[in-house]
Amino acid sequence: MTDRIVDFLRRRNEDGPCMVLDLDVVRDNYSSFAKALPDTRVFYAVKANPAPEVLDLLARLGSCFDTASVVEIEQVLAAGAAPDRISFGNTIKKERDIARAHAHGVSLFAVDCEAEVEKIARAAPGAKVFCRILCDGSGAEWPLSRKFGCAPDMAGRVLEHAHRLGLVAYGLSFHVGSQQRNPRMWDGALAASAAIFKDLAERGIALQMVNLGGGFPTKYLKNVPAVRQYGKAIFEALRKHFGNRIPETIIEPGRGMVGNAGMIEAEVVLVSKKSDEDRMRWVYLDIGKFNGLAETMDEMIRYPIRTEFDGDATEPCIIAGPTCDSVDVLYEKEPYELPVSLAIGSKVLIEGTGAYTTTYSAVGFNGFPPLKSYVI
Ligand SMILES: *Cc1c(COP(=O)(O)O)cnc(C)c1O
Repeated sequence: MTDRIVDFLRRRNEDGPCMVLDLDVVRDNYSSFAKALPDTRVFYAVKANPAPEVLDLLARLGSCFDTASVVEIEQVLAAGAAPDRISFGNTIKKERDIARAHAHGVSLFAVDCEAEVEKIARAAPGAKVFCRILCDGSGAEWPLSRKFGCAPDMAGRVLEHAHRLGLVAYGLSFHVGSQQRNPRMWDGALAASAAIFKDLAERGIALQMVNLGGGFPTKYLKNVPAVRQYGKAIFEALRKHFGNRIPETIIEPGRGMVGNAGMIEAEVVLVSKKSDEDRMRWVYLDIGKFNGLAETMDEMIRYPIRTEFDGDATEPCIIAGPTCDSVDVLYEKEPYELPVSLAIGSKVLIEGTGAYTTTYSAVGFNGFPPLKSYVI
């Protein structure tokens, strides 16, 4: 929480929850990444928070951008970044969207199978492609599972196919899982990457780049290592597996770039119990899974919640959102300690909410408007 956000909220007197994002924190995060990984280019994962002010700032700071759709590409271009600073990093693209990206000048694409390579060869001839490899995501609080990537022994074939079709077989990518709290998790994927580099070199294809993905955490309730520890662990793994022939590298931070820059202010709508014997209080907020807090799904992300009564006695509470859908419960399996004095009408501050909140908010489920966003 920053003084600028607190000042902003003090002056705001509109009704309804909102997310306030402090650009000074984003600027600090960008320079921490640049310092921790000095030889690595930063491709901000736009989906974490595509607010125009965030994209403008990062474009001015020299960042590149990882995008997943033509709309995101157009948002980045509108922020003034040239197309050679954009990668189309989604492995699942319509051929006509590849053609539109190509027409915009984008020439770096992700693939994870031969069918996707063929689309790119037709719609963006001569482009550079990198192949995403599977990564098990263990140690991550928001794992990305098996949806993207192929087995390492298939990646060589995919890239060879790209080479044969006149594309530039540029490199590899992986994602160690979002909110990855273990800096050593890059090691296994880099070992697999080095083996693929070697195998393809023997077949006359010289890969150049390893895309180290995202995964850099935001501090929620638990502590997380500093970004420089990630830089150090990643550099050591690169040295170990690539020796003195370290390839070009890029990172794609999303959460780690904007998460701690944002804070949500919300309001307690109701505090109640379900029976006379019930020991658990239910605290209903005016924000829930459908208007910003989707990442509480399965209680994976546990946000720090501050109240004006912090320091008073607490008791475990079930926290829920305002909609008439019973899945709109934030924390129940593991109840959340909140002050007993917290009452109907109290404001709460939910920290670390700059990433994956505004864009995960429904258009108007149950008539609750999308989460308001202010960038200061
Ligand atoms: C979402 C995403 C990211 C960002 O991940 P974080 O864990 O938020 O840093 C990076 N790369 C790709 C390909 C993604 O889909």
